[in-house]
This record gives sequence, structure tokens and C-alpha cells, in this order.
Amino acid sequence: MQKSLRTFASLGLSEKTLEALRTKGFEIPTEIQIQAVPLLLNSETDLVGQAQTGTGKTAAFGIPLLETIRSDRRLPQAVILVPTRELAIQVSEELNSLQGSRGYVITPIYGGQPIGSQIRTLKRGVHILVGTPGRVLDHLSRKTLDLSEVTHAVLYEADEMLNQGFIEDIETILSAMPKQRRTALFSATMPKRILTLAETYMRSYEQIVIREESSGEELTEQTYIEVREQDKLEALCRIIDSSKDFYGLVFCRTKADTDKVAAQLKSRGYRAEALHGDISQGQREKILDACRKRWVTVLAATDVAARGLDIPDLTHVVNYAVPFDAENYLHRTGRTGRAGKTGTAVSLVTPLEARRL
Ligand code: AMP
Repeated sequence: MQKSLRTFASLGLSEKTLEALRTKGFEIPTEIQIQAVPLLLNSETDLVGQAQTGTGKTAAFGIPLLETIRSDRRLPQAVILVPTRELAIQVSEELNSLQGSRGYVITPIYGGQPIGSQIRTLKRGVHILVGTPGRVLDHLSRKTLDLSEVTHAVLYEADEMLNQGFIEDIETILSAMPKQRRTALFSATMPKRILTLAETYMRSYEQIVIREESSGEELTEQTYIEVREQDKLEALCRIIDSSKDFYGLVFCRTKADTDKVAAQLKSRGYRAEALHGDISQGQREKILDACRKRWVTVLAATDVAARGLDIPDLTHVVNYAVPFDAENYLHRTGRTGRAGKTGTAVSLVTPLEARRL
């Protein structure tokens, strides 16, 4: 559905949201965002989404939610139930950054945090509540939480909540909300118990399934080469030359590095381009098109620019510099070796960086 829509602007978002997305550095929507955002914005249907963690589902439901709720209400209009306190904090932070200048009060509520301060927060007024089922239920039974104005409920990682024995709590919480609310349920797996929950507590719903991607690591051969900083370009050229049909991404740390690496490669006769956040949307599309047609076979990119990139069949991911954190590293290496194909991830590390790896 709507696979051809590839920019956030084409999803029909307000300027406030687009501005927040620019600030966050999101450049193009992920698959679940492409599918869920227009559905949630333009229809009244409920949603069941099957998607792994890390697919961008927070923004997928969060963006339409932020576009629809009202600022003049003091009781929660949206309740997002999550399995753990870490997720409560993470989802709440993500929504806060997505709301931009709107000024909604978005609060995480979880066990282990003093209940008194939560009660005060709830009294002052909250637009969006992100909570673990146990603590939300606790507030309900203390009558410190009023769900009578909820228009949106989200069950986030429903299978995890099921595993943790939260299902009855969830049922009680959903029963305390108005029936005409809208509900979205996300889960990586769809055991029967989850589907029964959807059938019982949701109205007619659309189902979106985001194809499971191999996590990448098993299929990606990972190596590293220890080189001095000034020898990195040579090393990169050797990697390109020694593979039969090199078709890869070269991750650089800064925009300036991507420009420099691409220019140096070009001057040596390689079909290289740079991709980073300062490149206009039109130019970006042109570069990606050239990549897909394999006119360009080496793409030097920053992490941000490469997020959500959809270039199939890459043979290599080269880390021209070691990423700052492990999450980025997996994110990068997971780009090759997808869909059952093998790919190679090579990191060029200085002796100093070798220790960080
Ligand atoms: P989630 O699955 O919602 O937890 O998102 C996983 C990570 O991807 C989070 O760090 C998000 O900030 C990030 N993310 C989500 N959507 C996008 C996007 N369209 N572009 C870049 N990063 C994204």
C-alpha cells in the first residue's frame, strides 16, 4: 500500500511535524511509517501492526496522534501501554521530540517511581500518558487517573506484555476507556491470545505486516582492518578493487568526510557520490536513483543520511571510521546481508580505534 510515497511531506503532515522531523534528522519515513501514517490520519479504522523493534513504530503511531489530539484538554487523550519502564521512558522521549513546538504534556508512568510525584503530574494535566500496565492500573484503582476522555489507546509490544503476564491488567485498563476510542496494537509476533485481545477490545481494524528482516549479523561477514588514518583511502580502494562487483556504502563520521571521500574516489575514477543531510531532497533522490541503477557503486554517507535507505543487494558496508556506539554499528552492518544474501562489513580502524571495537 502506498509504497511509492517516500517523503514525510507526501504523507500529508503539518508543517509543525515536518519541522520536528527535520530537527530530529529523520529524512525519509520507514516502511511502517509509510503504511501506518496515512491510514491513521485519513481513516477511522483501528490498526494491528506486526513489526519488530527498531522499525520506527513509535513515529508511525505517534505522528498521527500528535496531529489529532487537542491541547485544551487536561485529562489524558492518549494512553500508550508498554511492557517495561525503559520503553515507557524511550517512547515518551520519542513522542516529546516529535511534537516539536506543540506543548503537549507527555509523561511516562511506571512502577518504581514515587507514586506521589506521578499523582501531582496527573493532577496538573497530561495529554499523552505512556505507562506500564501495572502502574497505570494502580492509578486507576486509586482513582488518581481518569481515562474517560481517552480517544487513542496504543498497545506497544503487545506480545512482550503478554509474556510478562500483563494481559488482564491491559483488559481492565481498556475497559475503563470510552468504547469509541481508537486503538492501535503493535506486536512482533501474533500469538492467538493477542489476536483474541484485538478481536475483543478493538473495532474493525486494518492489519499491517512489516516483513521480518534478518537481523543482518549472521549473514554479514564482519572484518576489520587496522590502518593509519592517512592510509584509509588506500585501504578503501584496495577493498573496492579486490571485490568483483563492489556495490557498497561507506560510512563516514561527518558531512565533510563524506564529501572528501567521494571526491577522492571520483578523482581516482570510481563511481562515487556523497550523501548527507545538507543535500537537497531532489538531489538525494537523483543520487539514490543513480545508485539503484548502479551508475554509482560507492556511496559515502553519514549515519543520519543512510537511515531508512532502501538500496537492495549491497555487497559491502565499509565503516570508514568506527561508529560512536554499538547500536549504530549494528544498524550499519545490518544494511548488507539482508534477505538471505551475504554481505561483507569492513571497518577501517586506527590502532586507537581498534581498542574501541
Ligand atoms: P522505534 O522502532 O520507534 O523504536 O524506532 C527505532 C529508532 O529509529 C529510533 O531511534 C527512532 O528515533 C529511529 N527512527 C524512527 N523512524 C525514523 C526515520 N524515519 N528516520 C530515521 N530514524 C528513524
